[in-house]
Amino acid sequence: MASLTPAYTPVADVDLRPLAAAERVLIGLDFDGVLAPLQDDPAASRMLEGSARAIAELSRIPGTRVALVSGRDAATLRQLADPPSGVWVVGSHGAEVDFGPEGDVMSPISGDSAAGAEVGAPATTGPAPAAVQDPPALTSAEQTMLEAIDSHIDAFEHTMPEHSEMEIRVEHKPFARTVHTRGLDQRFASDLHEHVVQVQNEHPGIRVIEGHDIVELSVKRATKGDGMRVLVEAYSPTVTVYLGDDVTDEDAFAQLDSVPGSICIKVGRAPTRAGLRIEDPEAVAELLQRLAADRRRLQG
Ligand SMILES: [Mg+2]
Repeated sequence: MASLTPAYTPVADVDLRPLAAAERVLIGLDFDGVLAPLQDDPAASRMLEGSARAIAELSRIPGTRVALVSGRDAATLRQLADPPSGVWVVGSHGAEVDFGPEGDVMSPISGDSAAGAEVGAPATTGPAPAAVQDPPALTSAEQTMLEAIDSHIDAFEHTMPEHSEMEIRVEHKPFARTVHTRGLDQRFASDLHEHVVQVQNEHPGIRVIEGHDIVELSVKRATKGDGMRVLVEAYSPTVTVYLGDDVTDEDAFAQLDSVPGSICIKVGRAPTRAGLRIEDPEAVAELLQRLAADRRRLQG
């Protein structure tokens, strides 16, 4: 077995002091494969109990902001994860930044109010993504691309009668379609994948995002790195940590390279630019619980 770089660090050996002691900490967390174990059926994903408890605890600690960052659309993510109201959500790989219902961002937490502009509508300067309560609208060009994606996927379903017992799972998102291949016959999955990505030949504006047993066709160009940039601008953390397991999380890690005091943690065994690696969602739950306890002791 090839050795991993970086190698796995046992959670007990991860130095959490910079995070526990930080004046203002931003905790960016991917959902699937990080907080929730991967499932064949994406609708069945649930956060591990230990992580849910730790997030609830962390979001009550002054100067502590938790954000969920996912390829899922923001509304679905809020529904699945059911986080406390102060938790921010970045959906659709950074195309949606949801600071929660109005009032929730008017946090009573003293550490937050010390920053002044605790954000209802954070001032952001970059072109994308939009900071939203409502998802950003589709342009007509994006609408056309989305329709092309739908008919392209339909065409596959109609031309593969010999695989008719196979079910193609397509997740419909506001700006994308995600085709799930987890659990499918390998040959069928590879045919499906090959077909799906061909829509980009006709419409080069479509972004193909590869993930763990998924291929996503997106009509927005934003990345999780864009999402994290908006959150850092909004919250001005003194330390930021980000945990992710998938290829798309590498954009967030890359973005944080330019943010002083950032800590990037890869979950699982995929190649990464992150400086630390832990094993799985159980390890994430353990890390978050340790962080909540340490930070509570120092800040509470
Ligand atoms: Mg993930």
